[in-house]
Amino acid sequence: MSAQELKQMIEKAGRIVAFTGAGISAESGIPTYRGADGVWNKYDPNKYANVNYFLQEPSYYWNFFREVRYQVLKQAKPNEGHKALARLEERGLLKAVITQNVDGLHQEAGSKNVLELHGNTRKIICLDCGKSYGIDEVREQVETELPPPCRSCGGMLKPDVVLFGEALPAETLEQATEESRSCDLFISVGSSLVVQPAASMPVIAKRAGAALVIVNQDATPLDKQADLVIRESASAVLSEAVQE
Ligand code: NAD
Ligand code: ZN
Repeated sequence: MSAQELKQMIEKAGRIVAFTGAGISAESGIPTYRGADGVWNKYDPNKYANVNYFLQEPSYYWNFFREVRYQVLKQAKPNEGHKALARLEERGLLKAVITQNVDGLHQEAGSKNVLELHGNTRKIICLDCGKSYGIDEVREQVETELPPPCRSCGGMLKPDVVLFGEALPAETLEQATEESRSCDLFISVGSSLVVQPAASMPVIAKRAGAALVIVNQDATPLDKQADLVIRESASAVLSEAVQE
């Protein structure tokens, strides 16, 4: 029923922006921070995702990368939710996907205009010379060297993501703000809407006059401001709402 309401809103809209969080990738096998279980829980996001901890103790991150993150990334495939957003862009309705995710699954599903607020964990950069590496070559390296030095200058490698304690990329944030301000339908999918400043995007859209739809399994602090709240699976809702 609710997915049908979203479908009607999509068909009436002129400029749609989607805003996604960890929940859209949960059905691709990537755990969210909340409710994560199994081996993922052995590693504490307050450590592997914190910039001060990373700079102090980089091996903690690289161990997590070696034991957990690499395999999770290699196995994850875009699900029907990612694919539905890619089709909506192809139809000319969706102008941008603003994502907090760092998994690259929107691009793999075919989305073109993806604004990654928190970077991408599939890319690894040298903090000293700026050279970038793919995850496969660094995965080989961490078999024998922890933390892995840059092969070119010996400097420190870091995943190209925004860790807790770091600023968001200014240009991407600006583009995301502009897209949010100029859309007429803003769909938030799989985000708890508590991580700032990312979570201010729906507020910006709403203030500028857009309709706000929140698709998320749990309640969010912005539900009261939304025009439509759907507490169901992201992939089920999006694939139904985007059907022609
Ligand atoms: P979050 O973990 O705070 O919230 C995820 C939300 O998704 C939850 O409220 C949950 O109810 C909902 N959810 C879970 N499965 C769902 C499903 N199948 N359908 C619909 N909703 C579902 O995530 P967030 O808001 O993105 O913020 C967390 C931070 O963690 C972000 O900064 C992000 O960069 C990072 N992160 C990214 C990934 C990723 O790249 N896939 C994974 C974990 C964390
Ligand atoms: Zn280097």
